[in-house]
Amino acid sequence: MKLTVLGSGVLVPQAGHAPSCYFLEAGGKRLLFDAGSGSLQQLVRAGLDYRKIDAFFFSHLHPDHVHELPMFFVAAGLDKANKAKRFTVFGPKGIKRFFAKCLDLYPFMKRLPVKTRFRELADTSLRLGGVKVRSAIVQHTVGALAYRVEAGKKSFVFSGDSEDCLALRKLCWKADLAMLECSSPRKPFSGHLTALDCGALASACGVKHLVLSHLYPASVKANVKGLAGKRFKGKIRVARDFSVIPF
Ligand SMILES: [Zn+2]
Repeated sequence: MKLTVLGSGVLVPQAGHAPSCYFLEAGGKRLLFDAGSGSLQQLVRAGLDYRKIDAFFFSHLHPDHVHELPMFFVAAGLDKANKAKRFTVFGPKGIKRFFAKCLDLYPFMKRLPVKTRFRELADTSLRLGGVKVRSAIVQHTVGALAYRVEAGKKSFVFSGDSEDCLALRKLCWKADLAMLECSSPRKPFSGHLTALDCGALASACGVKHLVLSHLYPASVKANVKGLAGKRFKGKIRVARDFSVIPF
């Protein structure tokens, strides 16, 4: 698998940390996790082709995770070089309604020749070719999802936004790479994880490689790697936009 971080940040504008967006290559599939504002441009900057994304997965409907979705749709519809004209989206309950509201706001989008497939997930398992994806409802907004992807012998977990909870721990169990949200260095932050939580969770779940992302300014400034390392002895990396992490 190969993870390319395109948005390691949050709602607060920060150089080097755009809103949430991650590109994962796994088992021959190209999956995009979250699409905060600017994601399309981040993909272009990373030299990745948005037209080749096989499926989008959204964690929840906060703007820093979902606001670029209509832009991808419009690009798919208007780009003459985009022959696929199809758009597969998985996300939490409400993602269909969010998209329908975008269509109401911009009626021209209804006329774009793009085939869409939306599926709302909860605690769900699905397959895309040889890739297994499992979603679980975690502790953030109602219905917020975390994901686990398995292909061959490798596994990847994306926490979305969440507190430490059993559902997230089950997904993380023995994961090769767990990318956990690290909203705060050590001060408890409702609905989110701290660097200390990330370390404790990775350690309890036997994770091999921990990536800390979804960084608020306090986490960017602090030594979150050192803090997580107080609780976790495996490999730790702090995400930055355009980090490329093969595993
Ligand atoms: Zn967030």
